[in-house]
Amino acid sequence: MSKLISIIVPCYNEEPVIGMFYEEITREADIMRNKFNTEFEFLFINDGSRDNTLAILKALADKDPRVKYISFSRNFGKEAAMYAGLRNASGDYTAIMDADLQDPPKMLEEMYESLADGQYDCAAARRVSREGEPRVRSFFARLFYRIINKISNADIVDGARDYRLMTRQMVDAILEMGEYNRFSKGIFGWVGFNTKWLEFENTERAAGETKWSFWRLFLYSLDGITAFSTAPLAIASVMGFIFCIISFIMIGVIIAKTIIWGDRVAGYPSLVCIVFFVSGVQMFCLGILGQYLSKTYLETKKRPVYIVKESGGGIEE
Ligand code: UDP
Ligand code: MG
Repeated sequence: MSKLISIIVPCYNEEPVIGMFYEEITREADIMRNKFNTEFEFLFINDGSRDNTLAILKALADKDPRVKYISFSRNFGKEAAMYAGLRNASGDYTAIMDADLQDPPKMLEEMYESLADGQYDCAAARRVSREGEPRVRSFFARLFYRIINKISNADIVDGARDYRLMTRQMVDAILEMGEYNRFSKGIFGWVGFNTKWLEFENTERAAGETKWSFWRLFLYSLDGITAFSTAPLAIASVMGFIFCIISFIMIGVIIAKTIIWGDRVAGYPSLVCIVFFVSGVQMFCLGILGQYLSKTYLETKKRPVYIVKESGGGIEE
């Protein structure tokens, strides 16, 4: 019996590459059909694109029954797009792939082979080089991975892409996690299962431009940390505790000094420094609290992760 593989493709303003992507992926699908007797469905998620992405997807769906699309009412972000894709994928195996051909379709064969004998539940791609990426960005990316792995138990691998092929069982496990603040790199690790890492060299985007500014990536990394670790809350308490102790000691010292030598009103500069420093620490800790509070706030609202405006190719949502 042939297996069905669902390919989920989040698209945000990808007009220049969709056509190219479709060519490549269908070519790969043909190869895999001959080799492994697998069928395919292509599930494109239009994440509120402002260019012609949707029109192109509709045209593809008209001519190819394997193509399905879901179109959001606005840009909800890649996380939401992946979630929508996973929810609507019906394959025995499901893969997530970027539209820009940075995730080589050729790797699907190796991924499928890894899963087919049942030893692994997931085969994921990992970049071993960050060529073509700004230095500063690579540096901060590495730093982020080091920190998050220290303070959370989600096991997030450096260089891991979202590009991966998963079994039905793993997809269902991921769907069980109905949280609003989705951080997939953490979710994939958190659900467990056996993951095989396949390494590849970074390839540059085929056309179009990246949707991630440094600032957006920075905020995304904060999302990741607050979603998968409560360690920063502990940092806040520990710092507060240390500063309490220090201030008690200082109060003692000042009282003793005043009793022995009297008050000679000196040390104004050091006082100002202390005030600045301590209030800085307070603000920092408040900020940490605020981060968690805001996440809890959004989580309790139970808003939908995305809103579908239209869909086609046999998707009902
Ligand atoms: N993407 C999306 N919604 C967004 C941003 C990006 O669906 O708000 C998609 C985008 O169309 C692409 C994938 O996520 O298919 C990865 O984006 P991009 O290539 O810009 O990221 P990079 O590879 O530079 O990290
Ligand atoms: Mg890309």
